[in-house]
Amino acid sequence: ASGGNIDQLAEPTDGAGGSELSAVVGRAGGLADPSGAGEITMYYQPQVAIATGEVVGVEALLRWRHPRRGMVDPEELIRVAEQSAVMRLLTFRVVDDVVAQLARWQAAGVVLRAALNVSVRDLHTGEIADRIAERLARHGVPPQRLQLEITEGALMADPRRVLATITRLHRLGVGIALDDFGTGFSSLQHLRRLPLSEVKVDRSFVLGMTEDADDAAIVTSVVELARALGLRAVAEGVEDERTWRMLHAIGCDAAQGWFYARPMPAEELVAWLARHRPVRPTAGPEAAV
Ligand code: C2E
Ligand code: MG
Ligand code: MG
Ligand code: MG
Repeated sequence: ASGGNIDQLAEPTDGAGGSELSAVVGRAGGLADPSGAGEITMYYQPQVAIATGEVVGVEALLRWRHPRRGMVDPEELIRVAEQSAVMRLLTFRVVDDVVAQLARWQAAGVVLRAALNVSVRDLHTGEIADRIAERLARHGVPPQRLQLEITEGALMADPRRVLATITRLHRLGVGIALDDFGTGFSSLQHLRRLPLSEVKVDRSFVLGMTEDADDAAIVTSVVELARALGLRAVAEGVEDERTWRMLHAIGCDAAQGWFYARPMPAEELVAWLARHRPVRPTAGPEAAV
């Protein structure tokens, strides 16, 4: 039964309207898998302060380990989930997993901020704000430990309701990041009107910035704009040392990328944190040994 279109994963398989996707979303992680749909799990990628090398947080990224298809690309998974009511459940699942993980880290003395991604339609009702508030309270995790990454697509669809949801979360103390900045209908209105704490420079600009003067100009402008507005600028897709140094020269606050670490399971992250030694671009990696 391998191969075939990924959309089949959302098609009914059990005669009752259930699909492989809904089976896997409904099941808590780590249990035996009677449905054969595999396992949904969160990977975590460190975000590092460029000037000091300290870890400032992690981004939670969805992974579906499918028994026949292997790792399903999260963008594909989200696209399929968005076609049905499963998306709402998937987002709740992500919120629950990430907050529970923050509580486990907290109990182990690991103080981290985690960012999670939400999909466009997740913000059209206040439900997600209720869920987040309830989970944080239940686990005793301070709202400041959580950040939501939203894309501009969410704002285009229903600006008033999205703004209401975001404002509630902001008042609760949850940070809000504008993700993939520069790829959508980037509007300066968004930067001005939303209660943002962070702007993420899309990796499509960061990946080529040491080779391409236009990409470098775009990254520089976005970083300067963010900082001028009092927002943290975070670059994603930092794959090498030259990019890291260039971002430091530009004044970008933080970065994530394969140069530092790939996304990894929660258990590996604790070991990575123990091994990680902050390296400052000014001293140079060789001088810091
Ligand atoms: P995103 O939120 O912009 O996440 C950053 C993506 O960049 C991740 O891809 C990450 O693995 C990748 N990345 C990080 N460092 C590097 C690097 O140095 N080089 C390269 N080439 N890539 C790097 P990933 O994990 O495949 O996720 C893709 C997208 O799927 C995310 O983009 C986000 O839009 C969506 N997504 C992931 N998890 C979730 C989730 O839980 N909920 C929702 N709604 N969307 C999610
Ligand atoms: Mg993101
Ligand atoms: Mg992004
Ligand atoms: Mg993206």
